[in-house]
Amino acid sequence: MSRFVDRVVIHVAAGNGGHGCASVHREKFKPLGGPDGGNGGNGGNVVLVVDGNVHTLLDFHFRPHARAANGRPGQGSHRDGAAGEDLELGVPNGTVVLSEDGEVLADLIGEGTRFVAARGGRGGLGNAALASRARKAPGFALLGEPGEARDLVLELRSVADVGLIGFPSAGKSSLISVLSAARPKIADYPFTTLVPNLGVVTAGDTVFTMADVPGLIPGASEGKGLGLDFLRHIERCAVLVHVVDCATYEPGRDPVSDVDALESELARYTPALGGDLADRPRVVVLNKVDIPEARELAELVRPDLADRGLPVFEVSTVTREGLRELTFALARVVEEDRRGRPAAEPTRIVLRPSAVDDAGFTVEEDPDEPGAYIVRGERPERWVRQTDFGNDEAIGYLGDRLARLGVEDALAGLGATPGCPVTIGDITFDWEPSTPAGIAVTMHQRGTDPRLDPTHRPSAADRKAAKRARRGLDADEGADEQ
Ligand code: GDP
Ligand code: MG
Repeated sequence: MSRFVDRVVIHVAAGNGGHGCASVHREKFKPLGGPDGGNGGNGGNVVLVVDGNVHTLLDFHFRPHARAANGRPGQGSHRDGAAGEDLELGVPNGTVVLSEDGEVLADLIGEGTRFVAARGGRGGLGNAALASRARKAPGFALLGEPGEARDLVLELRSVADVGLIGFPSAGKSSLISVLSAARPKIADYPFTTLVPNLGVVTAGDTVFTMADVPGLIPGASEGKGLGLDFLRHIERCAVLVHVVDCATYEPGRDPVSDVDALESELARYTPALGGDLADRPRVVVLNKVDIPEARELAELVRPDLADRGLPVFEVSTVTREGLRELTFALARVVEEDRRGRPAAEPTRIVLRPSAVDDAGFTVEEDPDEPGAYIVRGERPERWVRQTDFGNDEAIGYLGDRLARLGVEDALAGLGATPGCPVTIGDITFDWEPSTPAGIAVTMHQRGTDPRLDPTHRPSAADRKAAKRARRGLDADEGADEQ
């Protein structure tokens, strides 16, 4: 028992990008032609999609790990690797996505609403795409980037028009089951008391949803029982219905004190999505009046509750007495609430602003190590991830890219001296401004791999394909010479 299913931590890992291929065209009588290595495919994303057939987060409880497919590596003869397929995970309507620190990232409302939970790594460019006039025959390719991997918290805050609240066994599940087409199982399913049941109710022309908020007991607003977790479910409801058991006699408990006890829980709860539960309309349902004692008690307390301005309904889910009147009354409140709202609640996707301006980079002296420098920025960090450090030519290419972006000038401007350590992403270099790239490597002159035919020029088709590939894979580099 006591499994917690409306809040789960999931571990999502997107697919890695496939590595680009460094390959040289071979042909009869022309054994070493131009570069023909294809690009790696992009890794698949992990995407959360609102799916009307999914009503709980139970599946994630049992399978919290999700991994999308990797992109395939590029191959010779200009064969690009296939992209990894996206992995789509169905989530219930009303799922809120939070970071591990509790920051709301997205609030998923409406069938088909999507949220990229982990972004696939870009595929690396092959050497055909890296060829240029200055570098006719690159002897290297770019590595595919690793896919994003992170932990996310999913919380289900049901999107129901009507929220049923009441002590355990008051008859909430029974009420949903007799009023709606949905037939929640009662008491024979281990999660019954933990999963909010959702039902669809039709009253005349009005169709509305009704959710059962299980486990609401005194002390819930302080996290007692499963209270706080279940109070989340009623945050979006237009009407709150107190379901009161009039058949159970316990000393010190009566319908009025039951309503009071639950009201004080509601008053103490602060909705995470803002607003206040106090101004939500209330209805009281006095249940089980098929039992004579229950009917007596219901009639006794009715005036007290009515005096507070609460609409009161005496019902039995067994004989169905009073149910029709109740559904039409609820439909009226729901309609009124809908009229007062904008047509459709917009999906709230909260995007975290990225720390660094996409176009740029920052350089600062390492506060922990004077004389050492740290370069930050989306592009420099990505370029480092794409670099095969076992290949001098690839390192030289990285150096050229960094110099063109202005990293070298910025380091010099801050007073960096030869030999001082410079960190970008996971890699620390020794800064050597004497080399054209600013990085201490023994370099071949790039584009002059002695194995290659120096007279080779990429064909027009090759150049076009390379341009296309660059646009797709490296679009933000714009005019950046490859
Ligand atoms: P919940 O915990 O509020 O969801 O309560 P349930 O719907 O599971 O009902 C608890 C018990 O009360 C079950 O045994 C039901 O059969 C019973 N019950 C529910 N409604 C009525 C009713 O109108 N009359 C009678 N006699 N029993 C009821
Ligand atoms: Mg129940």
